[in-house]
Amino acid sequence: MIPVSSVSVPSAAEGYVLEVLRSGHLAQGEFTERLEAGFADLCDVKHAVAVSNGTVSLELAAVALGIGPGDEVITSPFTFVATVNAMLNAGATVRFVDIDPVTYCLDVSQVEAAITPATVTIAPVHLYGLAADMAPLMAIALRHSLAIIEDAAQAHGALYKGARVGSFGVGSFSFYATKNMTTGEGGMVTTNDDAVADRLRLLRNQGMRARYEYEMVGRNARMTDLQAAVGTAELEILPERIERRRANAAGLTEQLDDLETLVVPFIPADREHVFHQYTVRLQDGAPVDRDELSARLLAAGVGSGVYYPRTVHGYSCFSGHPRVGGGVFPEAERAARQVLSLPVHPQIASGDIDQIATAVREALGDAR
Ligand SMILES: *Cc1c(COP(=O)(O)O)cnc(C)c1O
Repeated sequence: MIPVSSVSVPSAAEGYVLEVLRSGHLAQGEFTERLEAGFADLCDVKHAVAVSNGTVSLELAAVALGIGPGDEVITSPFTFVATVNAMLNAGATVRFVDIDPVTYCLDVSQVEAAITPATVTIAPVHLYGLAADMAPLMAIALRHSLAIIEDAAQAHGALYKGARVGSFGVGSFSFYATKNMTTGEGGMVTTNDDAVADRLRLLRNQGMRARYEYEMVGRNARMTDLQAAVGTAELEILPERIERRRANAAGLTEQLDDLETLVVPFIPADREHVFHQYTVRLQDGAPVDRDELSARLLAAGVGSGVYYPRTVHGYSCFSGHPRVGGGVFPEAERAARQVLSLPVHPQIASGDIDQIATAVREALGDAR
């Protein structure tokens, strides 16, 4: 059975974790600082602030930017629920804009129409490991004096026109177990803004500047040094793992892109995809539907995943929420019905790509 995701922590993590255990300093400490420095380097930003998870990193990014009740954030309805939960928990109102059917990221051409006098931020999601179309988004943000929060939870190291995601606005990353880089649970906020970084560091630690000097209402959102020790080892091999994911993705595309009813991932020429997910789209009118394809793959020993089976605004806890805007998002709905992610994780053995591609072709009645 080839699973759609597989977690394998590099052996260097064992030594680092043991070092922390023996040091007697388990809470946020030296490994956290080391991970922050390395991650800031990766993203080519001045500051990286480690926090307890990716959802909290999104929420603190919003709070550090001064976003709260009465403020509107524009994002995608085709994302993991955390994007919306984090903004709501920060007190903001969420408005959705449909996605681009080719990249599955925000349809930038529809963003300006969704801006109201209350809009303060655009929060693009770099879905599946592909950067959203940042240049026009940055231009819109500049024109309307809006902040940018990048939900880069799935896109560590992805590039847009040569620049790293997380370096355009305030970047938010997740180190959840199945992400491209993990600490079990964990997150990181990236920024070039000294004041935002300062607020983030206060917010994650009870609003405390120095012992018993509280400057704002804070939280406990710290990362432990045990998590950071794992993250340090993971960061060391991230580039190698991204290369493996890219090579696996290229292998699948080579074997699948002639299928008429199946759309393979498109990589715009100005971006480098890190393939957190390799997501195909099964067109309406294909010999089997998405769920049947997934069932046939499973029978052939190939795992797959649906990210995501429903749009966020379709759930009643959000559609009925006073701080969630409505609307009709046909491309997000269509994607939710048609997408299926195939395994490309770095633990895939040679031969697995052939097995996956053959299983897909056979399921679609197009064996070669
Ligand atoms: C995983 C994820 C998050 C949340 O990260 P956690 O670490 O699980 O809290 C946010 N947004 C997206 C798009 C994600 O995939």
